[in-house]
Amino acid sequence: MRKLAPDFKTIADFRRDNGVAIVGACRAFALLCWETGLFQARLVALDGSKFRAAASLKKVMGRREVAEEATRLDAKIVAYLAGLDEADMAEPDDEPQAVQVTLAALRDRRAELDRLAARFDDEERTTFVEGEADARPMGTRHGPKPPSYNVQTAVDADTGLILHHDVTGEPTDRRQLHPMTSATKQSLGLDAITVVADKGFDNGEHAGACERDGIVACVPAQRTVNNQGDGMLFDRTAFTYDHDTDTLTCPDGRSLVRKQLQRKDRNVTYASPDCSGCVLKTRCTTAKQRFVTRHLDEDARNRMAARATTEMMRKRRCAVEHPFGTIKRMMAGGRFLTRNLKGTRTEMALSVLAYNILRTINLRAKPD
Ligand code: SF4
Repeated sequence: MRKLAPDFKTIADFRRDNGVAIVGACRAFALLCWETGLFQARLVALDGSKFRAAASLKKVMGRREVAEEATRLDAKIVAYLAGLDEADMAEPDDEPQAVQVTLAALRDRRAELDRLAARFDDEERTTFVEGEADARPMGTRHGPKPPSYNVQTAVDADTGLILHHDVTGEPTDRRQLHPMTSATKQSLGLDAITVVADKGFDNGEHAGACERDGIVACVPAQRTVNNQGDGMLFDRTAFTYDHDTDTLTCPDGRSLVRKQLQRKDRNVTYASPDCSGCVLKTRCTTAKQRFVTRHLDEDARNRMAARATTEMMRKRRCAVEHPFGTIKRMMAGGRFLTRNLKGTRTEMALSVLAYNILRTINLRAKPD
């Protein structure tokens, strides 16, 4: 070849024009490993990790940022118009072209901000990343939240091969358990599958859906703290559910009855009809009566949590850390070069394919 190699543009064009085929090749390779018996899928570990989008933190726009920039632009436009009037009066035949061009650019940007402001309501979003429509600000609760994507992987716990992956704009893993597991199960043509994930994947609705689809999920419960009062009030676990009467029994032995069903979240709210005279009231609620919510799939969720033993969680940790570590090293610390879901999905499929090929070579090289 005399060192003939494609330049960066050729590679970028190839990646842009063949996204579907690249994602397909990645899936086909995992399937090939399955069909040749390289892994048994006895236990699948799920995990999600944030990868930086190709946009800076400054590109994150909330309603406040849009309003502030609009105010600044309005002031600038008024100042330019005043300048134009003055110039017009001084030299009526001389049109200051540069000012007209700047004014047009300011007006374009102002119209763009109006369109962005309208999208907050239309799409029920609180932020947008300019130039990276599918990315979301993601990070820790109090730390910076740079524009990022949430990459999901389903890893075979025995071999470390990635069986399925996805790139999403979801800031958390809360809604990934069922879609990721059922996609893995479907792609391998399995009747049943056992999956383990950390508590970030805990979701009552998904626990129920997994049970109905023959998926044995092991996910610890993410218990919420009762943040009313000083945060030391009884949490939900202090209330016992009775299936026969569909009531909860409080620590004082009184019944909380069904009050309301939130169909969208599948949460049922129970309320104590009368808390008067209760000696535990100061430890239970600061309100007149106590309300407790319970998910319709709470039993499935409890069973899912009970299966998440210490040993299961240890296996999960061993399985999921290696793939993300290797892929982030390949991708300059976990940064996408491409934009939007279409581009990032192709880029991630290339990385996963490269990781799986390397992993296969290493597994084959292992002495029996
Ligand atoms: S405050 Fe009400 S719900 Fe809480 S323990 Fe007392 S009686 Fe039960």
